Amino acid sequence: MSNPTPKAVSTKLYKTGQTRGADDDVIYQNRVLRNSTALIPYKDYQLCKNAPTKNGKYENGFIVLIKPEDYFNPEIQQSLKADGLCLGKNLLVFYETRAQWKDYPILKGWKAASARKNPLKGQYVARIPATTSAGEKKIIEGFTTSKMKGAGIRVYEYADADTINLCKLQLEYLFWSCKDIDKLVELQGLDPESVKERVKSIKEEAQKKGLADKENLIAARIIDEDGYTICPLCLKHISAIGFCDRIQQAEGREVPDLTVTEVSLFHIHELRTGEFNHRPYNLGWGHHHCNVVVKDSGITKTLEWMREVLQRNKMV
Ligand SMILES: [Zn+2]
Repeated sequence: MSNPTPKAVSTKLYKTGQTRGADDDVIYQNRVLRNSTALIPYKDYQLCKNAPTKNGKYENGFIVLIKPEDYFNPEIQQSLKADGLCLGKNLLVFYETRAQWKDYPILKGWKAASARKNPLKGQYVARIPATTSAGEKKIIEGFTTSKMKGAGIRVYEYADADTINLCKLQLEYLFWSCKDIDKLVELQGLDPESVKERVKSIKEEAQKKGLADKENLIAARIIDEDGYTICPLCLKHISAIGFCDRIQQAEGREVPDLTVTEVSLFHIHELRTGEFNHRPYNLGWGHHHCNVVVKDSGITKTLEWMREVLQRNKMV
């Protein structure tokens, strides 16, 4: 039987395995798998040197980025050695400002790096913006060709391939757990029999892999007491129709009693350096708008902020 999962949902699920977008002139790769080479700022090395799984090994390795003023500090040179960090193997000097570029010039023989795995084929990388006042051009060196654009991913976005897949499975399970799923099946004209089969197999697989623990999902604000998928911030039911926002237009009519809001991936504990929060039971589906409000501050902080705002407005 064919997979009845709507294309828009499969695409959303696939994208959960990818990192967020990156601008042209930054050091990060644009939307790649979360198990790509992790970039670790030197100041965070002790916190991040061990990957969360696979005995602490990053699936595609890591590169430590060190500021030139740190690299050229003799004391730090000693600790680099002690930590097994070696220029061109797992360490690159990272120039981000014009002052660094002038005060700590690259050494004779240094090359801009161009490989994400040892050997990195260089010793440094530069991402220095242009200065309009002084008329100085930007300096962008290392990992610049279209195929090798960006040296790696933000370390806190990392997850190994298995984790990525477990998350996808749990997230699909949550999609089929939307309260109005029958409405979507009807609107999309999906075959009810294949839907039934799909839901059954996803549920069984999720249970088998320990991804359907109701209490844990409730505690994490991912589903409600009835087992329906909710938005982790506002706790409203998530509409399955919100996954396929094109439906409304295609149907050319409003869906009754339902404000359809775009759905997006939600990290319950936000992604931040020193934690690896792309993992099962930490991902849910939330309203795009709620996700934007929470952004990087996390749910608890956001709720506290909201309470203060309401108090100041004398609404609570
Ligand atoms: Zn919401």
